[in-house]
Amino acid sequence: MPAGGPGGGTVPPGPLTWGPNRLPVPVAAAWSAETLELAPALTIHPHGTGLAYRAERPGDRDRHGVLWLRCRDTPGQGRPQFRAMHPARQRAAMLNRLCQVCAGPASRTSRGWLFLVQHTETREQPADWPDGVLCTKPPICLPCAALALRHCPHLTEPVAIRSRKPRVWGVFGGHYLPTTDNRLTQVPDDAYLSYGSPTAPWFVAQQLVVELQRCTVIDLVAELAAA
Ligand SMILES: [Zn+2]
Repeated sequence: MPAGGPGGGTVPPGPLTWGPNRLPVPVAAAWSAETLELAPALTIHPHGTGLAYRAERPGDRDRHGVLWLRCRDTPGQGRPQFRAMHPARQRAAMLNRLCQVCAGPASRTSRGWLFLVQHTETREQPADWPDGVLCTKPPICLPCAALALRHCPHLTEPVAIRSRKPRVWGVFGGHYLPTTDNRLTQVPDDAYLSYGSPTAPWFVAQQLVVELQRCTVIDLVAELAAA
């Protein structure tokens, strides 16, 4: 994973673990010390055309011009937040097809890259499921998939999918709208936003969303046994 720079998170020095049982902590997971910087920094663009940071830095926007949530990058400090992903590390893992746990190359076979998708977390299912599933969890390598099945308390009903064509679709995050007194108010619901959406200037991204295309549901246990 590239260190620093736009879209890149810091690579932890070797696999991080947590607690007396030394649970592996995915590199894409956020830590409690990685606080968000948003409310004081966010403002309305001087031209009124959308959101902006008061002092924008390189890397605040992605190549589509969408603003990203700023977040400290200090993996290993505080407690791991297994349910939350760090915006920059999630994006870097997704873009570079790196394993979300160890940051090594994700598993890829002739049937595609390996993703573990939770049945319950996908929004409305496309008609030809799993083709077209929108996914925010970066891919994974086989050894880490085995670890995740054993240790990850939040992974219920995982479906192992191989996708020959994971396509960058957009972002997950939230909209902010100007009030009549020129302040900003957050729209309560988190949202998926496709790149090119007309509301993108009023959106702050937290995670990159990939659409899994040309998918095969696989028997992960059988693949692990054969590996
Ligand atoms: Zn891995």
